[in-house]
Amino acid sequence: MTERSTFFDTKIEFLKGVGPQRAPLLNKELNIFTYGDLLQHYPFRHEDRSQFHRISELNELMPGAQVKGRLKDWLITGEGHKKRLVGTFTDGTGILELVWFQGISWFEKSLRRNADYIVYGKPILFGGRYSITHPDIDLLTPENAEGGTWQPIYSLTEKLRKRFVDSRAISRIVKSLLELATPHIRETLPEGLIQRYRLISKADALWYIHLPPTTAHLHQATRRLKFEELFYNQLRLIKSKILQQNEFPGQVFDQVHLVTEFYEKHIPFALTNAQKRVLHEIHQDFQTGKQMNRLLQGDVGSGKTIVAFIAMLMAIDNGAQACLMAPTEILADQHYQGLKAFADLLGITIGKLTGSTKKKERRVLHEQLQNGVMKILVGTHALIEDEVQFQNLGFCVIDEQHRFGVAQRSRLWAKNEVIHPHIMVMTATPIPRTLAMTLYGDLDISVIDELPAGRKPIKTVHRYDAHRATLFGFLKDEIAKGRQVYIVYPLIEESEKMDLKDLTDGYESISRSFPDVPLSILHGRMKSQDKEYEMGRFVRNETKIMVATTVIEVGVNVPNASVMVIENAERFGLSQLHQLRGRVGRGAEQSFCILMTDFKLSKETRTRLETMCRTNNGFEIAEVDLQLRGPGDLTGTQQSGVMDLMIADLAKDGAILKEARASAQAILDNDPDLVTPAYAAIRLHLDNLRQSETNWSRIS
Ligand code: ADP
Ligand code: MG
Repeated sequence: MTERSTFFDTKIEFLKGVGPQRAPLLNKELNIFTYGDLLQHYPFRHEDRSQFHRISELNELMPGAQVKGRLKDWLITGEGHKKRLVGTFTDGTGILELVWFQGISWFEKSLRRNADYIVYGKPILFGGRYSITHPDIDLLTPENAEGGTWQPIYSLTEKLRKRFVDSRAISRIVKSLLELATPHIRETLPEGLIQRYRLISKADALWYIHLPPTTAHLHQATRRLKFEELFYNQLRLIKSKILQQNEFPGQVFDQVHLVTEFYEKHIPFALTNAQKRVLHEIHQDFQTGKQMNRLLQGDVGSGKTIVAFIAMLMAIDNGAQACLMAPTEILADQHYQGLKAFADLLGITIGKLTGSTKKKERRVLHEQLQNGVMKILVGTHALIEDEVQFQNLGFCVIDEQHRFGVAQRSRLWAKNEVIHPHIMVMTATPIPRTLAMTLYGDLDISVIDELPAGRKPIKTVHRYDAHRATLFGFLKDEIAKGRQVYIVYPLIEESEKMDLKDLTDGYESISRSFPDVPLSILHGRMKSQDKEYEMGRFVRNETKIMVATTVIEVGVNVPNASVMVIENAERFGLSQLHQLRGRVGRGAEQSFCILMTDFKLSKETRTRLETMCRTNNGFEIAEVDLQLRGPGDLTGTQQSGVMDLMIADLAKDGAILKEARASAQAILDNDPDLVTPAYAAIRLHLDNLRQSETNWSRIS
């Protein structure tokens, strides 16, 4: 392997002001090993050091204030951890106290009585007097007397602070590095993009992100660096998608007799425009001769099943077989029932395979799969077992993808070694566009963003625990009308015992209040056959109330259940609330979702509850969730592609991401191998990115 090293790979210890003492500290505490790492250690905010405040003007709302004045005197008071050095500082308009709890002896030696200083920090009012704890303090000099610029603030650790490496120390070494580095900084974006989006140059951006003369410069620098980061993020995702498409051929499904027959004779309702659009996208993919990898997103009830079925028909019409894999037996069974109703109309053989399929049935299934009689197989992960062999598997649908790992997906692929099957992953968890573009940027994405006409939107209300009697009265009425009810309790793993107690207490109080009503109970500690049994009783309408923890979250369909009560709703995230609500609203009746809470609620919780009451639209909810929690929490994983972003924020930078993706797509459409001279900068930067990642993997 050839290793190319550049100025930016220079070890940080060679930088003036760092040296062999501080270098290990920067390595260990901030993961800064090279010049390049330091330049990319962007500040997370800037403090305004361009102006001075008078002590008489200070107020507690100021995030920080800079004051020019004289240090009159100081004293040391207090004992133990309360021991502190308190300085008296004045500018003639009032008195400001400067307080240090740490480094007392050092400050005692270094401070000068009756000398003029500039101090900066957050003013706090205490006992009628303003004070600043651990201020930044500098002797007044002719250079700093007129005020400075915007001071960058870097993320630091306690250890660094103890060794006097603070934001100003970092900013000093960054400045000396920038001076050295400027002639080496190459433009990483093609001229065309810079012009088109009015971006500043890479060199300017690096200067201004660290040392902006004005806020306008800072904004331009931030925008430029975000654009670059998102552009390369998207470019690489799209590139790997193109590579995969070119590497793996897919079967061509161009016959549409079955689809036509289904449309003309059997289809039970008119498809929504969104369903038609998605089917068109899938049909296009099936013509390309390349293997499809598509994500289908659609809210609960948006009608993904019939889309999957019609896509299966395209495969079957061309001599291939199809399968659908679901995460649980109940879901596999529901999919099977749903698809069988359609398949029977056309006389298509469909089978089901789960862990509980009997040996004898299995033998028949295996045979029919191998000789091609069986056209559609629905099942759990049982269908990826090795003995399940197809004659010609052409299309796989995977439901609720986050339950499946990549390994399982590739075992599905291996079911057809001649030509890998097309894959469509279906999820009912809407993901905001920005997240989808980065998390699934290497998949094609289809969205069903429209519910079939005539659905009654679920009525969602928020009620306080104090009004439980009214709630129970309402539930009684609904049950008397023949409906079924879910009552859900939160389950948080760390305190499973306590939650179980909430659930069992709840169950007991419900059985007291509804003595004649048959109940089911369901929670994660039950054996899976007991769970299936209880769920089965509820599905068959033998029980009227299902008291459960969130184990019922995954796509179970009981159309007769029309009320969802969520207890301690403040303990659920937005997307989880929305998923739970999706268990109702599946039948013809008006459905309700009731969010129960205590009176005391945080502002964020109120936003969550209000959002739920305002809208049934999963994409809108996902967007609010992203704003509230940020991308990391939302995905719940250290997903690369999201976590790797250093400056862009998917919750805020949707507009930039869209531009960056469109630009990356256009460039790769035009020149997939980036051979055009105008794209030399891109090629070089991709190499650098790859190189620094290999370096990283060697370090960690
Ligand atoms: P999901 O996307 O949650 O899997 P389903 O495919 O289970 O949704 O569809 C929910 C219900 O809506 C089913 O009863 C289905 O038959 C019905 N449905 C699907 N598409 C339409 C449509 N275009 N018009 C009317 N009803 C539809
Ligand atoms: Mg479904």
